[in-house]
Amino acid sequence: MTDNHYDVVVVGLGIMGAGALYQAAKRGAKTLGLDQFAPPHTYGSSHGDTRITRQAIGEGEMYMPFIQRSNEIWRELETVTHRQLYLATGGLIIAPEGGGAQFHARSDFVARTASIATAYGIDHEVLTDQETMQRYPLLKLRPQDIAYYEPGAGVLRPELCIQTQLEQAVHYGATIHTNETVTTYETTARGVRITTNKGRYDAGRIVLAMGAWLPDLLAAEHRPGVDIYRQVIYWFEAEDITAFTEHNFPFVIWIGDTAADFFSAFPAMRDGLQGVKVLTEQYAQTTTAQTIDRTVKAEEIAHLYHMTNTRLHGVRDKLVHADVCLYTVTPDEHFILDFHPDSERVVIASPCSGHGFKHAAAIGETLAELALNGRSTLDISQFSLARLKTLE
Ligand SMILES: Cc1cc2nc3c(=O)[nH]c(=O)nc-3n(C[C@H](O)[C@H](O)[C@H](O)COP(=O)(O)OP(=O)(O)OC[C@H]3O[C@@H](n4cnc5c(N)ncnc54)[C@H](O)[C@@H]3O)c2cc1C
Repeated sequence: MTDNHYDVVVVGLGIMGAGALYQAAKRGAKTLGLDQFAPPHTYGSSHGDTRITRQAIGEGEMYMPFIQRSNEIWRELETVTHRQLYLATGGLIIAPEGGGAQFHARSDFVARTASIATAYGIDHEVLTDQETMQRYPLLKLRPQDIAYYEPGAGVLRPELCIQTQLEQAVHYGATIHTNETVTTYETTARGVRITTNKGRYDAGRIVLAMGAWLPDLLAAEHRPGVDIYRQVIYWFEAEDITAFTEHNFPFVIWIGDTAADFFSAFPAMRDGLQGVKVLTEQYAQTTTAQTIDRTVKAEEIAHLYHMTNTRLHGVRDKLVHADVCLYTVTPDEHFILDFHPDSERVVIASPCSGHGFKHAAAIGETLAELALNGRSTLDISQFSLARLKTLE
């Protein structure tokens, strides 16, 4: 075996690729991770200080084994590294009673989440508008709003989750090349030949965990019908930031009457940006990873401040920071975790649609298992590429 031959090459070291590399290396495989930038970075989908994680997954019961396994892996990593990757801040999902707009393509998200929580014995409450505001006086609910409250929900630290898994991958012998772009790959009878802007490598199997860049490396006929959307994360100045810190303020997912009303607010981390992190989602305009506009305009900031001010007390009309981020969205807003239709040597991962991070540790393990054993412990049948054909 030459120095340039690996059991597994992982292309893309965002949260999914970092997890795959760590898990493959931990299993003793000779692994190489490649990224066009130097992760953790701010150009893809895995940055912004915090990511929401919940125990009851309203997006569907098929995600429950992924969240349960992810939580085990985050804890294992915390124990080994003495770092805090996850904080239980409590979390609220607010929506008009009776449903409101769809969230992640599911209607009546509060009732769905509460029903899954009940089925799995997850501690939760469904609160009225008044009960919610009594508990969290910084929130402004409308009389028609109710809230699902989960005390064990919280936030993950995305940059630290990536860094920790990459460091652990290296600890188990992985090689990492940053600032190296994969330009093509071809499958042969014996493996996969990967070409980058700096060299060539051979692998038994390859994992494509390229986020919004995934369509770039697939032939036109095999591109899954994903759409890329530009999203923006904002941090606004608080009158008193301590009121928004992780021990005082939960994360809030706010489902309104229409998709455009969607709003989310996050607890401020003591070691993070000193501002109140808020965002909305937009699905009106698609973009590509290559052409995305990374400047945030004054009218966008004004719109987000207006949304924030109608939902939260104590936030000033002063931007601390803004970051552009990418959603890679499938037509049914479920993930893609599958082999390439032409070759089981190529594993394809597109677990975003705006809700992938919380499942990422288990997805990394799943990708490593697919690459090393050709099958996974967790059921991925509902994340197949073939199902997308039936949606066309
Ligand atoms: C604003 C925002 C908020 C979100 N909030 C949540 C949340 O609260 N909870 C939740 O669970 N999920 C959330 N998500 C979704 C979650 O963050 C994503 O599912 C996850 O980050 C996707 O990670 P990834 O590794 O697939 O992609 P990325 O992080 O984009 O990683 C892809 C990597 O591939 C590299 N790459 C691409 N092409 C090449 C190439 N040719 N050669 C070498 N390297 C390459 C890129 O440089 C990049 O590092 C959110 C997403 C966004 C954008």
